[in-house]
Amino acid sequence: MADKKHNLSTADARAMIRAAGLRSTTCRVGVLQYLAAATSPLSHADVADHLVPEGFDKSTIYRCLVELAEAGLANRLDLGDHVWRFEARRGEQHRADEHPHFMCIDCGKVACLPEVTVQISPSKGRKVAAVGAVTEVLLKGHCADCQ
Ligand SMILES: [Zn+2]
Ligand SMILES: [Zn+2]
Repeated sequence: MADKKHNLSTADARAMIRAAGLRSTTCRVGVLQYLAAATSPLSHADVADHLVPEGFDKSTIYRCLVELAEAGLANRLDLGDHVWRFEARRGEQHRADEHPHFMCIDCGKVACLPEVTVQISPSKGRKVAAVGAVTEVLLKGHCADCQ
């Protein structure tokens, strides 16, 4: 991946995995490093495309993704197209409920929008009864490439 926003060293990845209570395996380390370097949430297929050529097994990669998500090291996003996407969690600043995502309805590309805030403000005097706890903000439209 050309545009990396975050390089996680192997030592740091190991430490994070252990701190989360998991055993540090080469697959977990590889998956976490790849997620950390990505600029958008990745599906299992995206991660497998990169890590299978490096000798990892597809189903092991999937297990690692789920384990990392369950351990709180990654966010698991369901953006409504029945594909789980994963993104590395960077401490307190990077949580799924803190930045919206944008999905292109033409090519299906998903992007993080860390610089965008979406607020739900009820109109005066009304309660938004239908909204319980918002866990995901997803914007849909045409990306710059498809426009
Ligand atoms: Zn597009
Ligand atoms: Zn994101």
